[in-house]
Amino acid sequence: MSSSEPHRVDPERLALTPECIVRSGLCIGCGCCAARSMGGTMRYDRLGQIKPLAAGYVPGFGELCSFSPHASNEDDIASSLFQAPRFINPLIGRFEAAFVGHVREGRFRAHGSSGGMASWAAAELLKRGMVDGVAHVVPRLTPGVPLFEYAVSRSALEVCSGAKSRYYPVELSRIIREIRQRPGRYAVTGIPCFIKALHLLAKQDPLIKERLTFTLGLFCGHMKSARFAESLVWQMGEQMEGVAALDFRLKDTARPANWYAAHLRLRNGGVKRLDWWHLADGDWGAGFFQNSACNFCDDVVAETADISFGDAWVEPYSSDGNGTSVVIVRNPQIEELVRAAIAEGRLELREVDAEFVIRTQAAGFRQRREGLAFRLSWPRRGVIPKKRVMPKRGGLETRRMVIYWLRSSISEGSHRVFWLARSLNAPRIYLCWASSMLALYQGVAYSRGWLGAIVDRLFPPKGGEGGA
Ligand SMILES: Cc1cc2nc3c(=O)[nH]c(=O)nc-3n(C[C@H](O)[C@H](O)[C@H](O)COP(=O)(O)OP(=O)(O)OC[C@H]3O[C@@H](n4cnc5c(N)ncnc54)[C@H](O)[C@@H]3O)c2cc1C
Ligand code: SF4
Ligand code: SF4
Repeated sequence: MSSSEPHRVDPERLALTPECIVRSGLCIGCGCCAARSMGGTMRYDRLGQIKPLAAGYVPGFGELCSFSPHASNEDDIASSLFQAPRFINPLIGRFEAAFVGHVREGRFRAHGSSGGMASWAAAELLKRGMVDGVAHVVPRLTPGVPLFEYAVSRSALEVCSGAKSRYYPVELSRIIREIRQRPGRYAVTGIPCFIKALHLLAKQDPLIKERLTFTLGLFCGHMKSARFAESLVWQMGEQMEGVAALDFRLKDTARPANWYAAHLRLRNGGVKRLDWWHLADGDWGAGFFQNSACNFCDDVVAETADISFGDAWVEPYSSDGNGTSVVIVRNPQIEELVRAAIAEGRLELREVDAEFVIRTQAAGFRQRREGLAFRLSWPRRGVIPKKRVMPKRGGLETRRMVIYWLRSSISEGSHRVFWLARSLNAPRIYLCWASSMLALYQGVAYSRGWLGAIVDRLFPPKGGEGGA
């Protein structure tokens, strides 16, 4: 709203509460409402997703929650943060430069999920004294569930020990309180909706605005529930109680980067490893355990972050098991830091254009543009999300519509069927269901197996589908 407009009280906005967002399947569990309310907390629900508990009255909630239809969108936030960018692209937003490559110095690349750039940038900000702490997601010190949490690292060494992607729900309320309590300048690493949520919070909370100095974004396909980790553990023949540490993506330089392998360290000293393609729910594109809010997300590359990082999912990079980062820089101060490190030979990065970045995330953009438009056209109850994409029902091939419908159904079904199997202590119930759904999804999406042959005859394939 411009300052010249009269201040109108919107009763719908005032009536919006965290409970409405949760009931409408739009809560990603960021924790900003709990941080803003008196005595609000976050907890894991029975499906292994984090939700606000007793958030009560949250001042300005309508403008605070990332999924509220009354909050500023990514374009509004980015245009106030990055006012005169070199480039503006409809899919990746405002930016100064984009790169592909990896970190050359230290062990960042070896320890990171992709090219090690996210940990490098966080460590570099600390080393140069540009921030006093970096909030990111680390394994919990005490074994047991939850497996991961946000924590503030205050040295480059601490940052490095938190490297790797965690496809596991975490929340921000505890570190928001820490940032409020302990003066200093902070960087926060997060998925796109969390970075957006922090900017919305900073608009309302002057202390957060002052202390949140940089935001480091991760590209995002979707967030899984904590049950995905449990399912991995089941499929490795173990129980959660026996798990000491879980690595969702073990790096294996001898294999292509996109051949993911999960790795378990057990409390009894043993280790186990399993390739994702052996998992009943290891196809990222099928959407197992996806948070329902992700069905209504339109930001793939953290458009409101000062710098964001993803995997280079195009050849020849996806075949390089050492891992390769794609980086989008939006903040000129960070661009200087990156360019200086390239000149010093500490980073091996090549400048690329928006089209290259988009190609690396082709499936993510399909799901968050064409797929989102289609999902927005479905009838729904509760809060209606307001996105940068308009609802669109027509114009899609039948097979693509079936893929989007199947993905949503698998997400929804996986939460419920896993809950049932877990309650009855009968993993087979879930694993049989998941294997059948995977065969169906892969038949429709990739023409795989006998189901694929039938689908091909009914609806001849027109284009490929990849995981997000
Ligand atoms: C849920 C999720 C979905 C993703 N989807 C995609 C995708 O579709 N396409 C794509 O290209 N990339 C995706 N990524 C990003 C990718 O997996 C890598 O994290 C990214 O490329 C950075 O790798 P790196 O080697 O540079 O970072 P690393 O050196 O491995 O450092 C990663 C940093 O991120 C922090 N971190 C890890 N998990 C989380 C989390 N859940 N929330 C906040 N911070 C976290 C770590 O603490 C660490 O500081 C996703 C990441 C997550 C967490
Ligand atoms: S998305 Fe975040 S702010 Fe919105 S209700 Fe959920 S936890 Fe609260
Ligand atoms: S897909 Fe969007 S809503 Fe879902 S976790 Fe990623 S950034 Fe958040």
